[in-house]
Amino acid sequence: MEQNPEMKTSAQVVVIGGGVIGASILYHLTKNGWTDVVLVERKELTAGSTWHSAGGMHTLNGDPNVAALQKYTIELYREIEEVSGQDCGMHLTGGLMLADTEERLDWLKLAHSRNRYLGLDTEIISTAEAKEILPYMDEQYFVGAMYDPMEGHVDPSGVTHAYAKAARMAGAEVYRNNWAMDIVQRTDGTWDVVCEQGTINAEHIVNCGGLWAREVGRMCGIELPILAMEHMYLLTEEVPGLLDWNVSSGREGLHCMDFAGEIYMRQEGNGLLLGTYEQGGVPWSEKTTPWSFGAQLLAPDPDRIAESLEVGFKHFPIFNEVGIKQIVNGPFTFAPDGNPVIGPVKGQRGHWLAVGIMAGLSQGGGVGLALANWITEGDPEFDVWGMDCARFGDFATPRYTNAKVRENYSRRFRIAYPNEELPAARGIYTSPIHDRLDAHNAVWGVSYGLEHALWFQEAGKEPVEDVTLRRSNAWDMVAEESQAVRVGVGVIETTNFAKYSFTGPGARAFLDRILTNTLPPPGRMALSPMLNHKGKLIGDFTVANLTPTGDVDAYFGRAATGRSYGLPLGSERFMVFGSGVAEHYHERWFTEQLPADGSVRLDVHGRSVCGVSIAGPHAREVLAKLVDDDVSNEAWPFLDIREAWVDMVPCVVGRVTFTGDLGYEIWMEAAAQAYVFDRVMEAGAEFGIRPFGGRALDSLRLEKNFGAWATEYRPIYDPYEAGMGWCVRLAKGDFIGRDAAAAVKESGPARRLVFFRVDADMGPDGADVIGDEPIWHRDGSGDSEVVGWITSGGYAHASSASVAMGYVRSEFASADSGFEVEILGVRRPATRLDDCLFDPSGSRMRS
Ligand SMILES: Cc1cc2nc3c(=O)[nH]c(=O)nc-3n(C[C@H](O)[C@H](O)[C@H](O)COP(=O)(O)OP(=O)(O)OC[C@H]3O[C@@H](n4cnc5c(N)ncnc54)[C@H](O)[C@@H]3O)c2cc1C
Repeated sequence: MEQNPEMKTSAQVVVIGGGVIGASILYHLTKNGWTDVVLVERKELTAGSTWHSAGGMHTLNGDPNVAALQKYTIELYREIEEVSGQDCGMHLTGGLMLADTEERLDWLKLAHSRNRYLGLDTEIISTAEAKEILPYMDEQYFVGAMYDPMEGHVDPSGVTHAYAKAARMAGAEVYRNNWAMDIVQRTDGTWDVVCEQGTINAEHIVNCGGLWAREVGRMCGIELPILAMEHMYLLTEEVPGLLDWNVSSGREGLHCMDFAGEIYMRQEGNGLLLGTYEQGGVPWSEKTTPWSFGAQLLAPDPDRIAESLEVGFKHFPIFNEVGIKQIVNGPFTFAPDGNPVIGPVKGQRGHWLAVGIMAGLSQGGGVGLALANWITEGDPEFDVWGMDCARFGDFATPRYTNAKVRENYSRRFRIAYPNEELPAARGIYTSPIHDRLDAHNAVWGVSYGLEHALWFQEAGKEPVEDVTLRRSNAWDMVAEESQAVRVGVGVIETTNFAKYSFTGPGARAFLDRILTNTLPPPGRMALSPMLNHKGKLIGDFTVANLTPTGDVDAYFGRAATGRSYGLPLGSERFMVFGSGVAEHYHERWFTEQLPADGSVRLDVHGRSVCGVSIAGPHAREVLAKLVDDDVSNEAWPFLDIREAWVDMVPCVVGRVTFTGDLGYEIWMEAAAQAYVFDRVMEAGAEFGIRPFGGRALDSLRLEKNFGAWATEYRPIYDPYEAGMGWCVRLAKGDFIGRDAAAAVKESGPARRLVFFRVDADMGPDGADVIGDEPIWHRDGSGDSEVVGWITSGGYAHASSASVAMGYVRSEFASADSGFEVEILGVRRPATRLDDCLFDPSGSRMRS
């Protein structure tokens, strides 16, 4: 292959793919000052999904952080038009989301209330008001609507070219008709992108291959969890009177979503455009995308969308009066949960993803900004947890992806209930005690691919939870489970926690560098946050030191011995426990940071190490019947951990539980979990031991004001904001994020995590907070403003209180009164509490 002399042979970054996403990333890299960057495109810019996109843009997203980045995208269009001089064909018409049921209206109210702290200016309006701005709707089918001024549509090709032009003006290069055919990583870690016009060596590569992203991934040996679906929209002939209405009203036809019809609609020229997310959606090119596919459309299949069209034509009778000019059918890619898949690839330094982006015109700017920040600064600077490729583990196989993408497509316009567990691709990974928990009538959820018990339904009743934004039928049983822990003893499976081992002569030094707390001595545990270089919270762990001590008294003493692992004396061994959903995310970081000299070995135990935890005032008595060790408080105090034989099984047993009660976590290899569980149940029988599930655990940790990963602890917060400053040991020596953390400590955090008792509606239709609600504060004169947001909450059954945790601006962190939390559109008074509701002194855990 001849090298094109006009093309660079090396660059800091090669962006592969010239759709709207690749172009946006290229632009944002230059905006961050990286100008030695290039984009390679197989054909012409937009030659994937982008060219036939309907160009609709909106801010609505179930994840408020994604919604914020969608807002950024829409605001960006003016900027790139100005910089590039290229018209983006922007029509900021405003948008209407129409609710056909009260429940849907509740959901819109929830979205509307979140928008308050996102700076989005939405409004809940009546159907009569909606009709005024969308005259072609039939209002009898609707009960209300949300209006969003930040909606409309753009010209996808104009946008892509504007990004590319603006990037080129800043020094980037774009090589069209330059298919990247192969990708090779050199031994120095840099990447050779082998293209039609020659090879470019780069420090970083970004897969923006859109419809071909799977193929680009395969060039690097990875299989991406994305799949294209066929998607149809229709364009009508001219709508009589539409242009006149535009003139008389001074408005263009709004962008509109009709959830009941599973359709979206808007004005296009002098006609209308209507698209559907039908129930029987069809994947396209399930296994491989042909390289020969170009700027092509697929054959329309009107029968497939007939049902949605029928509803649409009923809700918008005007469609019965105009002819259909064209049905566009084109493919675009989705991830199993419908959100983008972005970020660094574990174990492949310099390999970045920006794939599976199903709303490129709403999300492209935000994805470009976050990824460019991540590449150039090491941190996306935004909360991209919901888009991070690390949310998928090995469980996201092609068939899993296929099932989930179809499900997601068919649910695009459904209400996403906070307590809903979706049915596709279930029952794949179950733990060895699944049947036992099933026999207790478990209601199952799934987390990071693994089934886990949410709560236990009363015997004889169907183990199913009603999906709702309010309190569900789980209420009574979760109350009983919570109470059982507080007055007796409960048992919960903890296999869905992440467990890692770090062994080898460098283990201590390594953990000391990546964690903020002082490491515990052998036989002890400590809590520790983990920070990135910018001092942001990227993990919260329990770290256990299981280094063998050679102590001859250890069998009945306090020190860990490492006997069952046969580790040589002097080797260091730590186990680290963290959030199960963050396993891939954390493994990626650990792998990046591990020393190259092989002095530390990382084992990610996943489902091969299982857990059972007992908690409650009788937990010690239960353990005493199972182990030969002295379990007294003196011999086995809070945060002691050791290898112990539980009945006949070698286990690691630590005295800690997330319930905030007296309790123990017992870890064992998977093959023995069922045996250990049975022994625990036998030993606990005389104390009335009761299995409890994730819902009760959440209720118990909330009344203890314990934060959790992915809610209170996320990569946008720093440890001082999150109330974890007490385990950041600035004096212990250097660790990652230390300087940034020290600076925050010096200046004081901008916001603080606080705890509330909420005066929630306790009536039959009442509701607790779900998460992401705005926190208001009313001053002495009665004026109120939004001062923060809720991270999680619910009902603390054992304390009979509705509670919530959330971040508020620091100046409000010690205010005692004046708070309100908006629940489903109603502002409920909330009292900020200094102490948790259960056992504030911690004596139950410690004695
Ligand atoms: C019918 C339809 C309607 C839609 N409506 C909307 C809407 O209203 N609003 C909205 O936001 N989104 C909409 N979308 C989705 C939107 O089009 C996508 O989100 C967006 O185009 C994704 O852009 P991308 O850059 O990721 O992928 P693509 O547009 O597929 O771009 C990928 C590019 O990479 C190039 N490429 C791939 N592999 C290589 C390689 N090895 N070497 C070099 N180049 C390579 C391809 O040629 C292509 O140009 C719609 C899509 C369709 C099909």
